[in-house]
Amino acid sequence: MTMDPATTPHLREELLSTVAVLKDSLERAQLNLDAALDAVINMDEAGQVTDWNRQAERMFGYSRDQAMRCEVAELIVPPVHREAHRQGMRRYMRTAKPTIIGQRVEVLGMRSDGSEFPIELTIAALIQNGTHFFCAHVRDITDRKRVEEHLRIAAVAFESDEGMVITDCDGVILRVNQSFSAITGYSAAEALGQSMNLLRSGRQDDSFYKAMWTRIRQAGTWQGEMWNRRKNGEIYPEWLTVTAVRAGQGEVTHYVGIFADITKRKAAEAEIQQLAFYDPLTNLPNRRLLTDRLKQALAGCARSHGAGALLFIDLDHFKNLNDTLGHDQGDVLLRQVAVRLKACVRDGDTVARLGGDEFVVMLLDLSENLTEAAAKAESVGEKILLALRQPYQFSQLTHHSSASLGVAMFNEASQSVDDLLKRADLALYQAKDGGRNTLRFFDPDMQAAMSARAGLEADLRLGLQEKQFLLYYQPQVDVQGRLTGVEALVRWQHPRRGMVHPADFIPLAEDTRLILPLGQWVLEAACRQLKAWADQSHTAHLTLAVNVSAIQFHRADFVQDVLATLELTGAPAARLKLELTESLLVKDVEDIIAKMMALKAQGVGFSLDDFGTGYSSLSYLKRLPLDQLKIDQSFLHEALSNPKDAAIASVIVTLGQRLGMTVMAEGVESRAQYEFLEREGCHHFQGYYFGRPAPVEALERFFSSSIHSHE
Ligand code: C2E
Ligand code: MG
Ligand code: MG
Repeated sequence: MTMDPATTPHLREELLSTVAVLKDSLERAQLNLDAALDAVINMDEAGQVTDWNRQAERMFGYSRDQAMRCEVAELIVPPVHREAHRQGMRRYMRTAKPTIIGQRVEVLGMRSDGSEFPIELTIAALIQNGTHFFCAHVRDITDRKRVEEHLRIAAVAFESDEGMVITDCDGVILRVNQSFSAITGYSAAEALGQSMNLLRSGRQDDSFYKAMWTRIRQAGTWQGEMWNRRKNGEIYPEWLTVTAVRAGQGEVTHYVGIFADITKRKAAEAEIQQLAFYDPLTNLPNRRLLTDRLKQALAGCARSHGAGALLFIDLDHFKNLNDTLGHDQGDVLLRQVAVRLKACVRDGDTVARLGGDEFVVMLLDLSENLTEAAAKAESVGEKILLALRQPYQFSQLTHHSSASLGVAMFNEASQSVDDLLKRADLALYQAKDGGRNTLRFFDPDMQAAMSARAGLEADLRLGLQEKQFLLYYQPQVDVQGRLTGVEALVRWQHPRRGMVHPADFIPLAEDTRLILPLGQWVLEAACRQLKAWADQSHTAHLTLAVNVSAIQFHRADFVQDVLATLELTGAPAARLKLELTESLLVKDVEDIIAKMMALKAQGVGFSLDDFGTGYSSLSYLKRLPLDQLKIDQSFLHEALSNPKDAAIASVIVTLGQRLGMTVMAEGVESRAQYEFLEREGCHHFQGYYFGRPAPVEALERFFSSSIHSHE
């Protein structure tokens, strides 16, 4: 090619300046490239790095020189996937059209130290002078990924079971979750832009909200129960937490409210409350709630100085109704009684059911004057009795009933709730005793008797623990006055009261069931004595009678206990005689017979004590496997002066003998009585005439002579 010489210098200059411009723009391009936030990596068709910018160096941790020896795949793919990736890249490069930027993909980048980081990758394919080359733009998206993850978690958390609402600083709703809509009934579209007042139920007054917002301003958060209103108008309880969100400077930008619908929990609480404090049959307060209210009332009396009254009410013969018409009808009656009682009192008064057919009415603030208060209580009491006397309508029939009522007054001087309940109970007891269908006030004399009894009971327990009991023995003799056996009679050697006789404590021991441990002690002590006698020839023939209370005998384990005691002590069963009273025989005759038979099979004998005084039925006399009848001493005392008593004594002797039993006369006090009995054919005797109950040593005189020594 030839060139015009004239134009050559000009051309050169132009060329030079073009080169300068090019160099300039290249340098600028390089600068731009290096300043870019993305890593820019050029590579050839084989995927080999041909050039990269500063950012790439920083991102991947290789020097430029090292990078030139790298394959792009080494930078952006973990080793295991590298081969697959290479193939993919080749395919992509073959098909990629020049200058068209490829798809953005998210892959992992790998630094020179082997650590991975998320990147976004775009590859552009270019053709220059017929050769392909490629330019990869790599963006480190670690931060973006982290933010995305947080958002994802936040989004999941936002859609929890609890309702959530975000408002601006003025309480305008910006966002709600699905649970918000489920609980309140407002869709997100309906709620957004509204004020939180949308949900106000009106159950809380302004002061409630004021206190709540003060708390939020001060502490940044508030938690508590709140009643809100659903879209359908229903009011519901929720447990709400409000938290203020503050910007950097500290001013509140948002509020976040999180709440749970606690309707179910509230209902459960209410049910528990109902069960714990109310009687399920009548829905009246139960003993617990009554006791609570009574406590409050007693405390209140001290302030108001007004006296109150406690009325104990018990339906007369309620058991009969239950037994004849069944418990269902009994329940119907109790419910009707509850309704009538409530109608007899004022709103502030309490009607409670203690259980069974026992109701209590508590009247408050009757009067400051106790007498006046008592008069008012009496008139309410009479009103109640009248109301309860009205016929009851059942589905099939009309039922008549009545009630007894005991009243105990209380004022600031009254001591404890327990005392008060006891007083009212005592008064009720008196009303029952007074013929029922009547009202009685608590009587302090009766209380004195009751507290004496309570003292005795406490002593009895202590006495048992401290072994204050002992056995006396009273001789039992035959016609010749020879000792045939003894009756064991318990005595209580009380540290203060002195020697206490059984009549003064056996009934109480029976009421309190302390007769069980006491009776067991008696049996064991008696059996030990029996064993001691059995071991000596001159006493081996003696029998020993032990009194058994009905409560002891009716215990399921009675037979077992007696046999175990015999075995424990080694006493001969055939010398043991159990004395039963007629009072024992009023129920479960079959069971009594079975128990007696079981013991008789082991040789134990049975005597019927105090015969003629109780429920003397000839039919059970015939059926029971008795060995002996004891004529009660009451017939004997008059036998000599009163021909009727003499006739009874005589008939009992004959009756016993004809039924194949021995007959023993107890309470024989004189020779005349003894001779009368002997004439009537009685062969066994016990009484002061032969010997008083005394410690075992007193029997010695019987052993020293076989001839009886009277007086
Ligand atoms: P009981 O079994 O009928 O005992 C006879 C009672 O009559 C005894 O009174 C005895 O001391 C008394 N007695 C005996 N001979 C005469 C007499 O000639 N004239 C008079 N006036 N009385 C006489 P005690 O010991 O006071 O016992 C009273 C009741 O207490 C006994 O009547 C018995 O029912 C009961 N008892 C005594 N010890 C026990 C016991 O260990 N267990 C049980 N469950 N009851 C017992
Ligand atoms: Mg007896
Ligand atoms: Mg007796």
